Amino acid sequence: MRKAIVYLLAFSLLGLGVIQYRFLVIGLKVAKARFDQEAWAALQSISQELSVENEMSVLLRSVVAADPKHFTVSLDTLRQASEGFFRDYLKDRLLSKGLDFDFAFAITGEGGSRVYLQSGGFSGQDSLSHYQMPLKGFIAEACACRPQLQMKVHGLVPYLFLQMNYLTIPYIAFFLLVGACFAWLVRFQGHQRSLDEIKNDFINNLTHELKTPVFTIGLTANMLQELLQSDRERRYLDVIRKENESLKTHINKVLELASLEKSRDILEKRPVDIHLALAPIIEHFSSQAGLLGGSFQYAPEAERSRVYADPAHLGNALQNLLDNALKYSPGIKKIEVRTFNKNGNFCLSVRDYGMGVSPKARKKIFKKFYRAPYGNLHEVKGFGLGLSYVRQVLRLHGGRVEVESEMGKGSTFTLILPLVA
Ligand code: ADP
Repeated sequence: MRKAIVYLLAFSLLGLGVIQYRFLVIGLKVAKARFDQEAWAALQSISQELSVENEMSVLLRSVVAADPKHFTVSLDTLRQASEGFFRDYLKDRLLSKGLDFDFAFAITGEGGSRVYLQSGGFSGQDSLSHYQMPLKGFIAEACACRPQLQMKVHGLVPYLFLQMNYLTIPYIAFFLLVGACFAWLVRFQGHQRSLDEIKNDFINNLTHELKTPVFTIGLTANMLQELLQSDRERRYLDVIRKENESLKTHINKVLELASLEKSRDILEKRPVDIHLALAPIIEHFSSQAGLLGGSFQYAPEAERSRVYADPAHLGNALQNLLDNALKYSPGIKKIEVRTFNKNGNFCLSVRDYGMGVSPKARKKIFKKFYRAPYGNLHEVKGFGLGLSYVRQVLRLHGGRVEVESEMGKGSTFTLILPLVA
């Protein structure tokens, strides 16, 4: 269950990541379209400015015409100087339009046939970060080559990311945060699981260790019985034996549950007639209830009673219900067991007329270690393991356990098992 939630969470996180990534790509495309528009507008206004005679256009016209006579310098020097001036000029015009990025440029003939002026870092064309604008008018008149102003933007994608800061930074921050929480959850879960294992191992080892002394005490008490003379001594010994028996029951309950948790896949299930399989337990309980001054009725009304079951574990489950019926009936100990068929199932109900379970506690009594916090809890001994065991056994048989109860009037616990076809 816990594992499934972790996988679900991982899957959701992945899905969220993919969706966020797609949003980011869309955001990037929108930012690029906006940038294209601004870049074209800036280049257009530069081209217009250079189409008439001014300081910059005169300089560029001389370069394009390869005619340095206005400047009394060599053509190479003129080109070098123009490169620096034109870069500053472009930078200034782009900044005035709010565009601040690194770029390279060139002035070429149409289709890049001839290069008149080129800045460092200008290499071939690529469609993503390359912009081109014809230079008409004053400069174009210098040659019959239709000069083009070409501009290549360096680091366009990071530039666009920076433009989208409002989207990318929260996206990365939240994603990292959720990822970190998820990693913490997985670690915590692992830690919790190992703690659970340590706790269970400790309880199991302890109960195993307790089993031997309890057995020895029982054996010694039996041997001692022969040697005791007085009634008083025998009464004392009886107390020891009774308490030892109750200790044994508790230990067995803990061990039953532990064995079920460890080997949930290896229940020894086979088709059995459940009436026959449970008969010894019913018989034993009948005499036990009689000894305690209670009344016990058994009505095996189910016509079909073949189920696919592990009789040992089912027997333990029934025993737990019967023990509880006795334990939680402080006054009259009247217990009725009935079997019947319903909706293709075999049902076995244990009814008592004891203290009952409150509606609030009813939701929790099947949880491990839970004990209803009412009544003479301390007089009725237990660890809150019995019903948790019953529920697990029934689940492993593809069945369930149900409870109906009224405070002060008693309870009915019903085991429901699918019949063998
Ligand atoms: P334990 O009996 O050892 O406390 P169980 O798991 O068998 O543990 O029962 C859990 C709780 O459910 C009990 O503490 C008790 O409060 C309640 N309970 C179980 N059976 C009955 C019953 N027949 N009548 C009233 N309360 C019950």
